[in-house]
Amino acid sequence: MRCAIVGSGLASLAAYATLRHGGVETEEITVFGTHEDPTEPWRARAAAIRQRRMRSESDGHLAPASFPGLAVRESLRRATPAPLLASVANRYHPSVDDFLAHAGELRGRCGWEHSFREQRVARVRAVDGGFELDGDGPFAHVLVAPGHPGLARPPGLERAVHAYEPHEYPPRVAIVGAGMAAATEWLNALAAGSEVVSIRRREPVRRPLNVPRPLFSKRGLAAFHASAPPQHAATLRELSAPSYPPGRTWDEPIRAAEREHRFRTDTDPGETPVIAATGFLHGFEHDPLLADLVASHDLETHDRWIVLDRDSTVPALTDGTRTLSLAGIAGQWAFPAADTIAGAKYAARAFLRRVCRTR
Ligand SMILES: Cc1cc2nc3c(=O)[nH]c(=O)nc-3n(C[C@H](O)[C@H](O)[C@H](O)COP(=O)(O)OP(=O)(O)OC[C@H]3O[C@@H](n4cnc5c(N)ncnc54)[C@H](O)[C@@H]3O)c2cc1C
Repeated sequence: MRCAIVGSGLASLAAYATLRHGGVETEEITVFGTHEDPTEPWRARAAAIRQRRMRSESDGHLAPASFPGLAVRESLRRATPAPLLASVANRYHPSVDDFLAHAGELRGRCGWEHSFREQRVARVRAVDGGFELDGDGPFAHVLVAPGHPGLARPPGLERAVHAYEPHEYPPRVAIVGAGMAAATEWLNALAAGSEVVSIRRREPVRRPLNVPRPLFSKRGLAAFHASAPPQHAATLRELSAPSYPPGRTWDEPIRAAEREHRFRTDTDPGETPVIAATGFLHGFEHDPLLADLVASHDLETHDRWIVLDRDSTVPALTDGTRTLSLAGIAGQWAFPAADTIAGAKYAARAFLRRVCRTR
């Protein structure tokens, strides 16, 4: 049996580790990717915004089994129940360093290097017996996890530095955006002594996780899955509004800066140097591989999303003998929080179930 994973980021590592845990051998899997270290693209973005704590919680790790989570590990390592107690109250957010260290261990343990092939895949084609990837194959089961198709720079900001690129903070800076990256950047720039103008079109939503908690549960997902395509797309559009967590850690530095006239909001940066905390390009059509996949197989799409079954598979190309799954942001039709670690694992587990069924 041959499985392939296209993409080499966090979603890819989660899928690889899940397959290995499910008994699939290293020689049965090929990972086609651009980064031998699957944490590299994520690490660079988190470093650019100086992120120190994860937004996700104890279960925000890439190992196939949920237990033990990162809170248990930290409690054991530091010989204190504090992380576990914080976790019970949904107040535990692992450090970026702990998350990355754990991902590194997992990668070493599961044999990723044996399956990794440095290659950017341009074409996925359905053929007898599965799928060909740039003419190589067939692979019976393929999971495509290419990540975001690029950084978004709204009109007028084409030359601005993006928050996910390395940068410093000028004495006066306009930060465009109102999500997690923007909020992190407000605090970074204030801590660096800058005066901050927050450029936003609307007030950000305050939410602990990047979608409401029920949408991580079977029950919450059942209602989402049952909705008709227009409602489905409307929900996804609504959920993509910028948000960042509530809490004093975020609010107090801003209130203090407002009192000192070092933080204000506006709708136009004027001549102030800009950091664009404007996230990523949205939609499959920005990704050449996905755009080609849709066009060449006439796949069903709705607005900017590829329509998927609830298990993240492409219905027209998946049956009892073969599987095509989408993971990461491309899998949002099946799981609204697809672009999180929980989302990566949702797609990975469903993929393993399909692989096992045909084994
Ligand atoms: C700064 C930041 C902080 C975040 N914090 C959290 C958090 O605290 N908790 C949480 O749950 N989530 C968080 N997320 C969200 C989420 O975990 C990430 O978006 C995650 O990196 C998604 O993984 P991915 O594998 O889909 O994409 P990526 O990690 O971007 O990896 C995709 C990889 O595939 C490669 N690739 C693309 N196309 C091809 C192709 N055609 N052929 C071969 N390879 C290809 C790319 O070059 C890249 O190496 C955060 C995201 C960011 C940006």
